Amino acid sequence: MAQSSVIRILPEAVANKIAAGEVVERPASVVKELMENSVDAGAERVEVAVEAGGKRLVRVVDDGCGMTHDDALLAFERHSTSKIRSAEDLFQISTLGFRGEALPSIAAVSRLELETRHASESAGTRVEVAGGRLRDVKEIAWSRGTRVEVRDLFFNTPARRKFLKSESTELGHIATLVTHYALAHFQKSFRLTSLTNEILNVSPVASARERVYQVMGHQLLEQLVEISPVERRMSAALAAETAEEGEQPEEPVVVRVSGFVSRPEVQKLNRNQIYFFVNRRLVRDRLILHAITEAYRNILPASVFPVALIFLELPASEVDVNVHPSKTEVRFRRAAFLHDLVRDSIRQALVAARPVAAFPLPKAARAPSPDLDEAEAAERISEEPPLLRGAEVHVPRSVPAAPRGTRDFQLSSPRPAPETGTLPLEGAALSVYEPPGPSPPTTVEREGEVAPAGSGVSEFPADLHPLGQVQDSFIVATNAEGLWIIDQHVAHERVLFERHLRQRREKKVEGQRLLLPIIVGLTPQQLAAFQDIAEELDANGFEVEPFGQRTVAVKTSPAEIRADEVERLLLEILESVGREAHGLSLDDLRLKIATSVACHAAIKVNMPLERKKMEWLLRELGRTECPMSCPHGRPIVLRYGLKEIQKAFKRT
Ligand code: ADP
Ligand code: MG
Repeated sequence: MAQSSVIRILPEAVANKIAAGEVVERPASVVKELMENSVDAGAERVEVAVEAGGKRLVRVVDDGCGMTHDDALLAFERHSTSKIRSAEDLFQISTLGFRGEALPSIAAVSRLELETRHASESAGTRVEVAGGRLRDVKEIAWSRGTRVEVRDLFFNTPARRKFLKSESTELGHIATLVTHYALAHFQKSFRLTSLTNEILNVSPVASARERVYQVMGHQLLEQLVEISPVERRMSAALAAETAEEGEQPEEPVVVRVSGFVSRPEVQKLNRNQIYFFVNRRLVRDRLILHAITEAYRNILPASVFPVALIFLELPASEVDVNVHPSKTEVRFRRAAFLHDLVRDSIRQALVAARPVAAFPLPKAARAPSPDLDEAEAAERISEEPPLLRGAEVHVPRSVPAAPRGTRDFQLSSPRPAPETGTLPLEGAALSVYEPPGPSPPTTVEREGEVAPAGSGVSEFPADLHPLGQVQDSFIVATNAEGLWIIDQHVAHERVLFERHLRQRREKKVEGQRLLLPIIVGLTPQQLAAFQDIAEELDANGFEVEPFGQRTVAVKTSPAEIRADEVERLLLEILESVGREAHGLSLDDLRLKIATSVACHAAIKVNMPLERKKMEWLLRELGRTECPMSCPHGRPIVLRYGLKEIQKAFKRT
């Protein structure tokens, strides 16, 4: 017989240990707390409806376990929860909620109506609370699950109501939030509607990848590289180090990282598209943000950000979620280990997915593949992320698993290939290169071992045979894998960039004395930037001296730079520094200088190259850490796989 009450009021001693503070800041916080309750209640379906950006109404309906009559009342007491009992439980939190404060806090600042039924009771319960006062309780007929309606948020605290933003801004926050819960819980259905729109509607799927597709559309999915789940065991030694005195020797702790990160050519101006989940809880974490930035070091310029969805799963005892009232911050027991693990997992995924950037197809050429049935194909065409469209999201029945080796994103054309001898690049299947060779999707690495960033063996082929150039700009090469096209300028840029950085690290940047000093006039801002970084310029092969009031004389420049590039190079460096005078770290400054030097010293486009030079360039490129994208994040290499070539000639 189920007891009539699972909710308990936490003893004061426990309640006092809970990170306290305001939970209800805006409509999205209401949505967050209610959705978390639904997920904790084991719901398989969560429906959110809002009016006026949630200011007038937030309604969350779920098919979870529901509450008994007694619990439905108890739930509105402060510190009443079914999720923890004792202070020790605070170190083992496996639910999203645990503070027992959300319902009372929300009910204190709104008109709240709760309808629910627990399987152990035949009747449902309806509770009405307004401004924290219990208004009504009655028995109702209710099938299953829970429905919470929150109306007129902050109706009794006008000062707080004033701080709310426009309806569309508040709705935006809600949509982002629901979308991200949907991403973290791909086995559940989520629906979000406003009065006029269905903003999100996703049914259960078998993998995070399919959910990303449902939510973001295939175009974004195409820009992402999947981090196939990496499991690592934290070493016993490490565990012992951090174990508190008197603790039992512990079981080995297994941590799992998975997710999606964007290819280097995707560049965002802020961090808004970086999402990090710990045990399916969306959190903000500086440490992990740092790990992500580190993973992209030398791949993305310092001032731009990737898209990332990172899922970290680890035992509840390894993470403290009782840090911040809104539960969006966590503290890890083994922070450094996790930082490196996340960094290296991303780095390895980026290295393994080595691009080769897909041939960008003109929109018109994006026709469905003949292998797909029509409905599915039609859905694949819808490209914009649902949040941007603000309209219905179609749900495909399934997304076929991509075979390892080449991921085909079904962009191949149903048109017959032209009968000429040219490759039908335009309508061809897009492929994203992955290194060949079997590897299990999940690997448990040796204890405590984390490969350093970028240590992935370079999969850039060593056997490329250059055939010639297209327009004196792009090297065409072949090997057994197919046809490769290499942008000579960015390829050389990558080689020089890494070399310059290495020499800078070893304090061995070579300078070359100019025959005549070059006099460069500076704006006041440029002059200020120059004064800021003069020392670092010296260490990078420059010798620049003040010369007159607002001019400098360049006497020596980095060895690779031709004299007629010196002025432009210096001005570019000063400009880019000036724009970010504040908050540019020494590391970032070095990256910027190396990027600029490489760009100005690299072989240009429209330059004929001898075969020897091409061979040299491909060899050097193969030795770099990131041969697939230039320091600005642009692709260096395109590949037209043998399979695609054969397919295009109808030889398969
Ligand atoms: P917490 O989630 O921290 O426990 P809340 O105030 O959010 O605190 O909820 C109090 C309790 O009410 C929960 O512990 C849970 O037992 C019950 N509850 C809340 N929402 C639901 C729901 N949608 N379905 C079932 N039980 C719920
Ligand atoms: Mg809760």
